[in-house]
This record gives sequence, structure tokens and C-alpha cells, in this order.
Amino acid sequence: MNPDIHNIVILTGAGISAESGLATFRGPDGLWEGHRVEDVCTPEALARDEALVHRFYDERRAKLAEVQPNAAHQALAALDAQWPGDLLIVTQNVDDLHERAGATRLIHMHGELKSALCAACGKAVPWAAALPPGTPCDGCRKPALRPDIVFFGEMPYEMDRIDAAVRDADLFVSIGTSGAVYPAAGFVQTARHVGARTLELNLDPSAGSIYFHETRLGPASALVPDLVRELLA
Ligand code: NAD
Ligand code: ZN
Repeated sequence: MNPDIHNIVILTGAGISAESGLATFRGPDGLWEGHRVEDVCTPEALARDEALVHRFYDERRAKLAEVQPNAAHQALAALDAQWPGDLLIVTQNVDDLHERAGATRLIHMHGELKSALCAACGKAVPWAAALPPGTPCDGCRKPALRPDIVFFGEMPYEMDRIDAAVRDADLFVSIGTSGAVYPAAGFVQTARHVGARTLELNLDPSAGSIYFHETRLGPASALVPDLVRELLA
């Protein structure tokens, strides 16, 4: 690949974890694991039916024990370990497959299943088990722990750091994301604006395909290792 590439930003979405056995969001019936998004993925849903929302994320957290990182997560972890320039993996996924593959230069912009967030004081704590509603925070003691997931209508994490990295990028790569949810869907436009090369790896062309210099279609488990080999060659 181009020797002028020093700084890389990689955005990942549900498609990179699909081959590990985790569902993407747009099933044929428009439901996500049997639920409407607005019933489990909004602050209003949490206020209306806390038990349902907690149970939904408890099931997804438990499912992590049954799945493994695939070749795409492993290839990105190898790139992270070996790339001499700046590199940042920004994932919209709340699973832990990037870090289990060994990636460290990683931001979970939409939160993490393996974390609980205090709705009263904002303290986040690692969480591996089920999270019953009313669980007390070990900081402020209020019974206010919720899943540490960025719901629709809430602000994604670390946007300043992500924006700075995208503005410095020479190469922006989007992997396994439908490009339908902002602000992540807009990163490619910022990257292009500052002169980065933009590359999309996805099973189908995404909503933002026209913004990429190049789109490669296929499964992440094949496309990502190929790209990493090119970059490290
Ligand atoms: P998505 O399900 O919207 O898109 C997944 C993409 O991955 C699709 O474009 C699909 O073609 C592709 N894909 C599927 N299998 C693949 C494979 N093996 N290899 C490569 N690509 C593959 O997921 P997303 O883009 O991550 O969604 C973005 C964010 O939207 C999520 O992080 C979440 O916060 C939020 N969300 C969206 C919905 C919704 O209905 N849009 C529902 C819940 C959450
Ligand atoms: Zn607290």
C-alpha cells in the first residue's frame, strides 16, 4: 500500500462480529434479537421498562461467553501490534471481541456490555454477570447501575479523541457497518475532507458507499486479513 500512510483510523460495526455468531441489527423481520430497537435501546425504554432492558443486555452479555474473535478481529489486533504509526480502532460494537483478540488502541464509542454505568454519578465499573435493576453503585451507593450502552439519543464516548484521530488520518477504513447511524456514519466525510484515503470493507455496499474511494465487498474474515497483509507488506 501507499508509503505515505502513517496514521490509520479503522471504524468497525456489527458486520465484523457476524461470523463470530453475534447478530447484526437488521434482521429480515426488522427486529433485533426479537425486539424493536426503541423497546430496548433508548433512554425512554429504560425509564419505562427497566427490567426488560436489563434482561435484554444480560442475555447479550452472557452470549459473549459462547463466541470467539474471528480472523478479522485477529488481523486488526496484529495490525495494532505491528503498525509503527498512529492507529485507532473505533468500534460501534459493544462486544469484547476486539480486545479479546488483543487490540489495545481501541475505543468503544457506543459503550460495552462488560461494563455497568451509574446513572446517578456517572461512574463506570467492569461488569461480567447479570445486572439486576436497582443494583447499587459502589461509588455513590445509589441503586442506579444500568448497562453501559450508549442508547439512541445519547452522546457517544470519546468523540473529541475520535475526531482528532480522523482529522489526522491518512487512511480511514470502515468495516462491517451499514453507515446508517450518526455520528459514526459521518467519519468518512471528515476523513475525505482532510485528504485521507477512504476504504470500505463490507458484505453489501453501505448507505455511505459513495463517500469511499474504494469499496471491497465480501466477508470480513477474508477481506480484513488481506488488507492487513497489504498494509504490513
Ligand atoms: P448494522 O447491523 O446496521 O450493519 C451491519 C453491516 O455489516 C451491514 O452493512 C452488513 O452488510 C455487514 N455485514 C454483515 N455480515 C458481514 C460480514 N460477515 N462481513 C462484513 N460485513 C458484514 O450494524 P452497525 O452498522 O454496526 O450499526 C451501527 C450502530 O447502530 C450500532 O453500533 C448500534 O449502536 C446501532 N443500532 C442500530 C440499530 C438499527 O436498527 N439500525 C439497532 C440497534 C443498534
Ligand atoms: Zn454512582
